[in-house]
Amino acid sequence: MVGRVFQDMERLGHVDLEASEMAIRASSHQIGGSLLEKLLNADGGDYRGARTPCGKGHRAQFIEYRDKQLLTVLSPVEVKRAYYHCEQCQEGVIPKDHNLDIVDTSFSPGVRRMMGQVGGKEPFEEGRRDLENLAGVLVKTKAVERVSQAIGKQIETVFQAERELALSGKVVPLKAVPKMYIAIDGTGVPMVRRETEGRKGKDETGKAKTREAKLGCVFTQTTLDENQRPVRDEHSTTYVGAIETAEAFGTRIYAEAIRRGVSRAAQVVVLGDGARWIWGIAEEHFYGAIHIVDLYHAREHLALIAKLVYGASAIKSKAWLDARREQLDAGDVEAVIASMHRLRPSPTQVQQAVRTAADYFHTNAERMRYAEFRKQGLFVGSGVVEAGCKTICGQRLKQSGMHWTVRGANAIIALRCCQLSSRWEEFWEARALG
Ligand SMILES: [Zn+2]
Repeated sequence: MVGRVFQDMERLGHVDLEASEMAIRASSHQIGGSLLEKLLNADGGDYRGARTPCGKGHRAQFIEYRDKQLLTVLSPVEVKRAYYHCEQCQEGVIPKDHNLDIVDTSFSPGVRRMMGQVGGKEPFEEGRRDLENLAGVLVKTKAVERVSQAIGKQIETVFQAERELALSGKVVPLKAVPKMYIAIDGTGVPMVRRETEGRKGKDETGKAKTREAKLGCVFTQTTLDENQRPVRDEHSTTYVGAIETAEAFGTRIYAEAIRRGVSRAAQVVVLGDGARWIWGIAEEHFYGAIHIVDLYHAREHLALIAKLVYGASAIKSKAWLDARREQLDAGDVEAVIASMHRLRPSPTQVQQAVRTAADYFHTNAERMRYAEFRKQGLFVGSGVVEAGCKTICGQRLKQSGMHWTVRGANAIIALRCCQLSSRWEEFWEARALG
């Protein structure tokens, strides 16, 4: 291949750089691949004698050598492995596959890592194309999907163990943090039909088409900027999430907070929208925390009412909204509620919507003392978790035409959360150490 590059160069009289780099990359991958193949087979197949432990307490017997086609980031290679069989388990045992981390897969860890990298970030088909274009790795879309989901499940298993350890109280946080924020939100993920059967939905059919993914993040804050606004500690945000019950999610986010040192936080703040399950979790797991309803969510409720009540009249709507927003910013929730009570919309539906909104502000009044929170140098908007929600679930899971199973979505949420929490590297290092 490199030879051809030189021939082309002579013929054309100049270097076509792009074609040359691609050709040389391809041939160096081939050279590297054959080197790797030699290296992988230098052990002659990892023969461990006539018998070897099966891993479940028995002795498996050597049968023969078996070759496996393995796709690596360099090229496909053939790996020779000693194959054993356990009578009791009725199962094949290949010690070498365990050593190389290639059990039940024909993709090397390097290729799988790349597949997971793209699969957590973008639709599987786009990921497949990126692998081909960026890395010269040719795989099927379905393989990107399967491998990404398998990695997501492994991440969930590893992090689940970590959460249990955190909950056991055996983890001692290293350093104290001035302020820790726990931001929680939910977002609908489109599901395949069988996952929503019998569930109530909000649209005209009354049938659910989505399931709620619960998402949370933990971040810390140490300083204020020159305008006395809070500054999030850089790289301090970690994410967790899943489609699961509020109870299960409560344990998940609580364990994450412990891992992040909540027991040594001087101040703990729970940020969320008005959803009742969020405050339930706050009450149960974060006793004594400051509750703050995300200012942006609260404003959305006001905007909705302005639109419903004043409809087409943009000026009236804007005037009403501006005045309410000012009251809200000042934390004067009572004034907001009073002006809602003064509204006299005629359609019954709008009346109902106004009542619901007024109730929302009433219920959450103490969580909306924004002026007071700002005075304390606290964040009042959960832009962080909103961005997280959009990044994790919106972009990745909610594109048109996508339909998920709960298992599939949860695996990708776990994968995505791991990557966004900057723990992807750590996960693979831990794997390599076995
Ligand atoms: Zn066995």
